[in-house]
Amino acid sequence: MLSFWEKQSYLDYDYAVIGAGITGLSTAISLMERSSQSKVVVIERSVIPTGASTKNAGFACFGSLTELLADVEAMGEEAMLSLVESRWQGLELLRARLGDRTIDLQVKGGYELISSHNVGCVGQLHHVNDLLSTYFNTPVFELKDELIHSFGFNISQVSHLIYNQFEGQLDTGRMMRTLQAKAQECGVEIILNTKVEHIENSRIQISQEHGHNLEIKADQVAICTNAFTKALMPQLELNPGRGLVLVTKPLTDLPFEGTFHMNQGYDYFRDYYGRIIYGGCRDIVFEEEATDQFGINQKILDQLQHRLKNIILGHDRFEIDHVWSGIMAFGEDKRPVVKRIDQHTVAGVRLGGMGVALGSLIGQQLAEMMLKPQ
Ligand SMILES: Cc1cc2nc3c(=O)[nH]c(=O)nc-3n(C[C@H](O)[C@H](O)[C@H](O)COP(=O)(O)OP(=O)(O)OC[C@H]3O[C@@H](n4cnc5c(N)ncnc54)[C@H](O)[C@@H]3O)c2cc1C
Repeated sequence: MLSFWEKQSYLDYDYAVIGAGITGLSTAISLMERSSQSKVVVIERSVIPTGASTKNAGFACFGSLTELLADVEAMGEEAMLSLVESRWQGLELLRARLGDRTIDLQVKGGYELISSHNVGCVGQLHHVNDLLSTYFNTPVFELKDELIHSFGFNISQVSHLIYNQFEGQLDTGRMMRTLQAKAQECGVEIILNTKVEHIENSRIQISQEHGHNLEIKADQVAICTNAFTKALMPQLELNPGRGLVLVTKPLTDLPFEGTFHMNQGYDYFRDYYGRIIYGGCRDIVFEEEATDQFGINQKILDQLQHRLKNIILGHDRFEIDHVWSGIMAFGEDKRPVVKRIDQHTVAGVRLGGMGVALGSLIGQQLAEMMLKPQ
């Protein structure tokens, strides 16, 4: 039986956030920035946030040329531009909040490798630059074919290289640790290793491994559980998608630096202090990867190694140091779901493959909705 004190001091909050990924932590920080006396709690099912935010490749990006063209096709020009704006604003907020040096954010530029199947996109480069000129005062995309050879890419597989000077990369682990520390510094309580089982009318049922099943009360609740949201809110439209990432051991004289996209964004790689971080290839076994279970698909790992050897490096003198997976959430198009569910509940989920960019802004939007309940 709980004491009066326990109920009053431990289980009653103004605001509760479910999930301690980038979206959840950003929501909690935004709440404290706007209402510093509030009692805010973040509830996370694992000891370490366990979804996508600690598992990603650390690209600070807003879309390669072929991705943006695919977005125009799927949603129209206005929606594509609005998404780019949100990603850019989210990145600016993240950088202002945490500081580039703290999260090792380096703007080395990004490149897209264009294969012979995709050369048509090059003809649309100037049009996309014109569209983006609303937000960027210099052209975003430019051809840098002269670098294909010096970067060591296989010229029979790479027809063009498109450069984006605005793209950066960061240290995902440092970003998440700093975000967590920042939340705690602002006065946010973080309850780890505690799963939310059910939410109804501002009452949150939680369970812990050792049989503690309790109920927390909060005036407003934010659901930031991304790919795992169906268990709490089955009515929300989203599908999980698993992504695999590998990191090589340091290579001698890695000939390139920066972030790189291939195959309409399905493949992505970057340098990390002489190593290559490489992820993707989900599209080769799409159905198998539509899961919220972590795991390594050998077919994907084999394909990544094949492409590393045959397209990126042109040799097999590399060693894989580590491989891991993370779970994203996707919808019909790339727009996230940021909305009020009922009087007490809001949700910010379905961040797709660019949530590092979107997470801080979505957190801010959720906090504003929670501070002005209907
Ligand atoms: C392999 C991979 C590579 C990626 N690379 C990039 C990249 O380079 N750049 C980029 O911008 N984006 C990238 N992304 C996407 C980006 O990481 C995500 O969009 C973003 O992290 C989503 O953040 P989130 O906080 O919304 O969700 P998550 O990080 O998934 O956080 C959700 C949290 O909720 C918790 N949770 C779930 N259910 C419950 C429950 N019932 N009770 C309590 N807690 C719960 C989970 O444990 C988790 O910690 C990548 C993603 C993956 C998987």
